[in-house]
Amino acid sequence: MKIMISACLAGRNCKYNGGNNRNEKVLELMAENEVITVCPEQMGGLPTPRVPSEIRDGVVTARDGRVVDREFRAGAALCLEIALREKPDLIILQSRSPSCGVKQRYDGSFSGRLVDGAGVTAQLLMEKGFHCIDVEDL
Ligand code: SF4
Repeated sequence: MKIMISACLAGRNCKYNGGNNRNEKVLELMAENEVITVCPEQMGGLPTPRVPSEIRDGVVTARDGRVVDREFRAGAALCLEIALREKPDLIILQSRSPSCGVKQRYDGSFSGRLVDGAGVTAQLLMEKGFHCIDVEDL
């Protein structure tokens, strides 16, 4: 099976704070399957570490007020390009991220409140018919 994975789940230090979301189940899958890792926020040109962002009224905005929608959508488009080329059977993404979250994301108020809805990369991949799941549902 070919699987596309949020790179932070594989232990890459690409998270906004310079850390990762290393996940043991993901690492097991990586040992047994063909895996492609992607970090849409880095691919969109954002640095690591970076100011955390949330989607506010449909626009990705950093906590300091800077609009980073263009970078997030550029990273999502590159992930889609890779997915279209590689045709993964499954895509496993980091839950609640403004890029990678599948079922839920933060509401844009930076208060920890969640809303139903996907991050920009997950949304784009699902719109194009790719099977995406939150890592929490693995
Ligand atoms: S954009 Fe996705 S892959 Fe990159 S750090 Fe955030 S959750 Fe992980």
